[in-house]
Amino acid sequence: MTILVIAGLDPSGGAGLLADARVAAEHGLRVVGVVTALTVQDTGGVRAVEPVGAEVVDEQLAALLQDVEIDAVKIGMLGSAAIARVVARALEATRAPIVWDPVLMPSRGGVALVDDPAGAAAALLGEVRLVTPNLAEAAALTGLRVESEADMEAAARRLGRALVKGGHLPGDAVDVLADAGEIVYFREARVDAGPLHGTGCVLSTAIASNLARGARLADAVDAAKTYLTKKLRAPLAPGRGARTLV
Ligand code: PLP
Repeated sequence: MTILVIAGLDPSGGAGLLADARVAAEHGLRVVGVVTALTVQDTGGVRAVEPVGAEVVDEQLAALLQDVEIDAVKIGMLGSAAIARVVARALEATRAPIVWDPVLMPSRGGVALVDDPAGAAAALLGEVRLVTPNLAEAAALTGLRVESEADMEAAARRLGRALVKGGHLPGDAVDVLADAGEIVYFREARVDAGPLHGTGCVLSTAIASNLARGARLADAVDAAKTYLTKKLRAPLAPGRGARTLV
């Protein structure tokens, strides 16, 4: 089974394509990948972002998709709305489930991971099986205030097929899944693992990997959360900054 990862390159390997590839491999999938942006970063944070030309992404996707059978797609950092548009167009014909982690800002470093979030959302939201925003990303995608569990549910309903992640709220870790009007709450005791990098990448790639294997969406999310919780209990410290999960 094969997963297509469309993501940025974090040289420190805690997020982006390198992390996604490890997560997918741990789920028994073979990874093919297209890099949307290079980043300058270490475990202390992102210092600069250099999106790849949209036409190069377009050509890479065209070459890959006419050749390789894809069972799921994970989209992460996009770099630019122009890239989001070529990704949406390239994936129009695929029947593989698509999971988009709509990362806008890194948790450390004030450098935007996409130049035009609204343009990227307009291009991609209609194409994906699931979008996985955190509170700030859910607010940016919907224009709603997202500061409570009730707000998370409202944002998830507005997005239609979304897992709104409440990890930044105090108390238990609560995520809200909306799928065609059905709402599921996932509630787990908080695991305090300190400053972490790449958590959203790990969760979204685990969900996409489970969907590749034919899991129902709610089951794919449930299994991915179990996988993530296990990782949170044993984080890695590859450098002097944030810890990572893979
Ligand atoms: N770099 C890349 C390539 C990413 O895809 C991401 C997040 O998805 C980040 C950096 C930031 O990761 P975090 O906010 O978890 O530190």
